[in-house]
Amino acid sequence: MTEKVLEAKNISINFGGLKAVNDFNLELHQGELIGLIGPNGAGKSTVFNILTGVYKASDGEYFVNGKKIENPSTYKLVRSGLARTFQNIRLFNKMSVLENILSAENSNMSYNVLQGTFRFPKFWKEEMDATKRALDLLSIFDLQDYASLDAESLPYGKQRQLEIVRALASKPNILLLDEPAAGMNENETKELMKSIEYIRKKFNLAILLIEHDMDLVLGISEKLIVLNHGEILASGEPKEVIRNPKVVEAYLGG
Ligand code: ADP
Ligand code: MG
Repeated sequence: MTEKVLEAKNISINFGGLKAVNDFNLELHQGELIGLIGPNGAGKSTVFNILTGVYKASDGEYFVNGKKIENPSTYKLVRSGLARTFQNIRLFNKMSVLENILSAENSNMSYNVLQGTFRFPKFWKEEMDATKRALDLLSIFDLQDYASLDAESLPYGKQRQLEIVRALASKPNILLLDEPAAGMNENETKELMKSIEYIRKKFNLAILLIEHDMDLVLGISEKLIVLNHGEILASGEPKEVIRNPKVVEAYLGG
């Protein structure tokens, strides 16, 4: 087994009386892809929001790359190797595709304010390297020709891909994808799943993939976790999990 890079232990959160997530556990290893599935409102996005420091869990603890996260902040988590995309696209609409990526890369630049302000060679060198890296990332999704266009001018499916590129720009080793295929047609979805497989291998990423439609994640997940009403209904080998009567019922009932 490879190294454990993301671990959640007994995480719970309440929203005024509602237990949105109750006793959630996870172990994700480097290079592994786990699918997090479940009906709408099951608590999937809330799990992401806890792991990325958007919400603070009312109970439980979690570890990113072996480090216990005490006071989660999104910024610190990105620096420790965790990146995510959102269920609803969050891009800088009026910025170019390239700028959207560069702004995400910035947290990794090592030039200081003085070097940046006076445009010392280190600044230019890093800017050029960053641009090259951004274009390389764009080309994975065949987006390089869109680099100078405003993000908002891209077709919807390409904006979703750009979100993933943006997440990759911070050089994460753990990637959390929240319904990346939402709103895509069948073909776009198939292409997307191939790209996710590709980046996973290329960067040896650990991926936690939220998807509403379980057929989609089935092909690429080593493991599935099924959430329902905030609780883990089943987890384990995908083919077994989807045959679990409790899971079948939750999906048919929903
Ligand atoms: P999923 O992503 O599985 O569709 P969510 O995690 O978005 O589900 O939501 C789980 C439950 O928590 C839902 O009942 C939702 O209404 C509730 N919820 C999520 N975020 C908040 C919030 N900030 N305040 C109150 N309730 C919330
Ligand atoms: Mg959600």
